[in-house]
Amino acid sequence: MSIARVALDLPLNRLFDYRIDGLGPATVGLRIRVPFGRGEKIGIIVDLPSQSELAPEQLKPALEILRDTPPLPADFFRLCAFASSYYQAPLGEVLLQALPPGLKKTRASQRRAGKAMATTVPAAAPLPELTAEQAQAVAAMAASQGYAPFLLHGVTGSGKTEVYLRLIAATLARGRQALLLVPEINLTPQLEARIRQRFPDVRTAILHSELAEAAREREWKAAFLGEARIVVGTRLAIFTPLPALGLIVVDEEHDPSYKQQDGIRYSARDMAIYRASAERLPIVLGSATPSLESWARAQSGRYTLIRLKERAVSSARLPTVRLLDTRRMQLTQGISAPLLEAIRQRLMAGEQSLIFLNRRGYAPVLSCTACAWVSRCQRCAANMVVHLKDQRLRCHHCGLEMRIPRACPTCGNQDLHPFGRGTQRLEAWLAETFPEARILRVDRDSAKSKKQWEALLEQIHTGTGPERVDILVGTQMLAKGHDFPRLTLVGAVGADAALFAADWRAPERLFAQLMQVAGRAGRADLPGEVIIQTEYPDHPLYAALQAHDYPRYAETLLAERRQAGFPPYTFQAMLRAEAARMEDALDFLKAAAALVPAEAHPEVLRYDPVPMRLSRLWSLERAQLLVESPSRPRLQAFLADWRTGLERLKTPNRLRWHLEVDPIEF
Ligand code: ADP
Ligand code: ZN
Ligand code: ZN
Repeated sequence: MSIARVALDLPLNRLFDYRIDGLGPATVGLRIRVPFGRGEKIGIIVDLPSQSELAPEQLKPALEILRDTPPLPADFFRLCAFASSYYQAPLGEVLLQALPPGLKKTRASQRRAGKAMATTVPAAAPLPELTAEQAQAVAAMAASQGYAPFLLHGVTGSGKTEVYLRLIAATLARGRQALLLVPEINLTPQLEARIRQRFPDVRTAILHSELAEAAREREWKAAFLGEARIVVGTRLAIFTPLPALGLIVVDEEHDPSYKQQDGIRYSARDMAIYRASAERLPIVLGSATPSLESWARAQSGRYTLIRLKERAVSSARLPTVRLLDTRRMQLTQGISAPLLEAIRQRLMAGEQSLIFLNRRGYAPVLSCTACAWVSRCQRCAANMVVHLKDQRLRCHHCGLEMRIPRACPTCGNQDLHPFGRGTQRLEAWLAETFPEARILRVDRDSAKSKKQWEALLEQIHTGTGPERVDILVGTQMLAKGHDFPRLTLVGAVGADAALFAADWRAPERLFAQLMQVAGRAGRADLPGEVIIQTEYPDHPLYAALQAHDYPRYAETLLAERRQAGFPPYTFQAMLRAEAARMEDALDFLKAAAALVPAEAHPEVLRYDPVPMRLSRLWSLERAQLLVESPSRPRLQAFLADWRTGLERLKTPNRLRWHLEVDPIEF
């Protein structure tokens, strides 16, 4: 009797044996259709054991071995096995989330993938001559062999993309494939276009979660079969099996969207590092504002640091950064007179301004002037945001919506006030103040789809005529690597809030956002100015920003982290529980904390369970328990022990829990 050991997409830490007699030759790595419960499932053959723990008559026969793709390779299994053990997730879940959804369908008719579209590619432009810094960077990285991790720290506009393109070209010339990871593909349509233009004859696969099922399967197969030589994708692309992989590039490596926030909570950047070391490849992590984790590794010599300190276009200077102390200023709608004047000057000169306010909607809350009523979400521990344009209150956490009430639901008072300020309110006020200006708002409400976003970008680029944009109001969506040639002023308002936020990572993120958004100013031949309104003009974050000195601020933050015992000087994991009652969630966590005796893991610290900052979401109460250790292997050993216990722990009704390793949000 022949047996296949099969991994299935189930939240269970085990594999399943099936009989495969009569199904033809089997190989580890092929997909297999098997009966499961009352239905069928697609699994992956992970072993062909000579016998099973189950008695022969208990083994169910599998239904079909699928041969439309070659078997998944050993590298792929190793990568998934690592993710499974590092993130404490069942192997079957990891293996199957790595496949495109189309390959997990049990009905054959649905498995047919579409044909690749023929894209028309514009004629290749001549290669720009590299700057001296770029040339050195390319030379240093292209010469490397085996596992070689680089941190490419390049100021905004320093031409990191050009460096990636040269490294990709060198990789292709060696007959290998290149994998380029990007945070969010929809935000960077220009990058895709640049790659196609540079490599018009090279099949390039694009992989992200918003692709239609057939397209995702087609692109994945092209990559897996080695037809696609360049693969560009979001975090999920890190799991793509690539037979001839020769280079990994992680663009904007600091971006939090590399961390998956549900399901298997992996970091694609960290997985990329593992993959490069396991497959002995060079890997480039690029950013103008590297994560502190990566910066610390570069400082300690684990990564080779390569810096681009100048902008690539020789005439493009880094913008001057001005701090406006607003403590003694009269603000109108959050805007000071000097900032207003600066916008007016740009308008007169026919140049563009960008006002950065990282809060969408009209106002963060609606409140009653007569009683204490505020627009709380019924399902979450959060306020519902006023969206005046469509007359709705909306919870940004769970999506609950309702019409803006005409009168206070509690006391009937008709005088309800939107409190605070979001991008819509700023947009409306700027439109009143500058009736002749064309104003464009860019946030997740105005750019919901890739199409809308591309249309907005197109408008921003239009230089002259009635369609031109004078003032942009936007959130961090505008911060990601775009060239806005006419943009000469960036104003940042409301940034102070993140300085003293409860989340200790907030300043790191604020710094990155401000640095990126400031980097939009003055990219072509017009000098740029950045005006930051603040009540804390002496804060080191702003001083470093003013000096364009990322390394200095990184040192400051790292010193603080070391002192406080925060990552990257300690390693953390979080156990989270959600239940109908907070008490149940906390009780579960208390029981969980007591599962493994402290003496067994002396170097692992367990904190007390506490309610999460967003303590209720979707009507579920949420609590968390932090564990940490100065040693990653010790933490890993503890987590492995702990999870075994957790899986056996009795949970009250409807309680759900998950374990997150290296959490980035608290
Ligand atoms: P970054 O990603 O580092 O912010 P980009 O790669 O977007 O920078 O490059 C910024 C601008 O400089 C782009 O318009 C790009 O076309 C241009 N550029 C890059 N390298 C060169 C070069 N060697 N010569 C001339 N222009 C360049
Ligand atoms: Zn009221
Ligand atoms: Zn809600």
